[in-house]
Amino acid sequence: MATLVIHGGAGGDGPWLGKTPLDPARIACMKQVLQIVGNKLESGEIDCLEAVTTAVEMLEDEPLFNAGQGSVIGEDGSITMDASVMRGADLAAGSVVNVTKLRHPIRAANLVLKQGWPVMLNSSAADDFGLNNGLQEVSQDWLITELRKSQWQQWKSSKSNPGATDEDDSLLDHDLEGRVTTEFSDEGMGTVGAVAVDNNGNLAAATSTGGMTGKPRGRIGDTPIIGAGTWSDDLIAVSCTGVGEAYIRTCAAHRLAMDYQQTNDLPTSANTILDAVAPLGGRGGLIAVTSTGDFVMPFQTRLMYRGSWKSGTVQVGIGPEIET
Ligand code: ASP
Repeated sequence: MATLVIHGGAGGDGPWLGKTPLDPARIACMKQVLQIVGNKLESGEIDCLEAVTTAVEMLEDEPLFNAGQGSVIGEDGSITMDASVMRGADLAAGSVVNVTKLRHPIRAANLVLKQGWPVMLNSSAADDFGLNNGLQEVSQDWLITELRKSQWQQWKSSKSNPGATDEDDSLLDHDLEGRVTTEFSDEGMGTVGAVAVDNNGNLAAATSTGGMTGKPRGRIGDTPIIGAGTWSDDLIAVSCTGVGEAYIRTCAAHRLAMDYQQTNDLPTSANTILDAVAPLGGRGGLIAVTSTGDFVMPFQTRLMYRGSWKSGTVQVGIGPEIET
């Protein structure tokens, strides 16, 4: 019954062209997260809230994902990060917006949830809350990686739309030069998330992101907004990835929960919601798991980093196919 599903962001346009040389490291990270956290969830060592928080923390620590270290860089040259977490059993939620110095924004969101009130904290107050509660402080220099610097420079010099260079591995790996740049779309993105159900059927969801390369100062995406990028109740847990504004305008994660309540058909409900998001410029993906352990990982972009753990079986995928 215990099931853990994670994503590492959806993005890109056009047909799948295969893995980049940076993808094996992303796959290795996802497999490690699924194995370690899946086993702990199944054994009852941790509950679903701790499972999604730990999974997202581990993804935040992988510099190739757009969350924590390796977050994408905003218009002003700095990293600001958003994260949220929700527990289905009592609809408890915690969220932090535009934090700049926390190694693990998702842990700050978890602490906000556990404190009970308020649900959201923003900017320096959210950073201070995390630090006052013992979270690790890191510098912007530590958060910013060479890949993200190159993507930001490319974004700036090409005057692209925010997010256009987020998926461009070629800017670090010169073997790929000319390949990914010809695939540029204005929908590049990336983010991390986890949803889980424990052996008692309890659910939780968590999402964390650096947003989109070149995002304007003060911009808030869907990731920290409960009901848009993250939702969990007693039937379903959802984490979304894509251009956040479209997910906010459709209350995507909550809408999926409401649709699923009506249909009891998870794949159909998930696709209905992605179809509602897409016309608003938000082609992307989501992961969702139900209290009975059914899960989906649909996306409408070129790729979505994703994986699942169920009864000891780990599956991961990037393009259309799932690999084990
Ligand atoms: N949804 C995130 C945002 O808009 C980005 C992403 O999912 O990659 O901030």
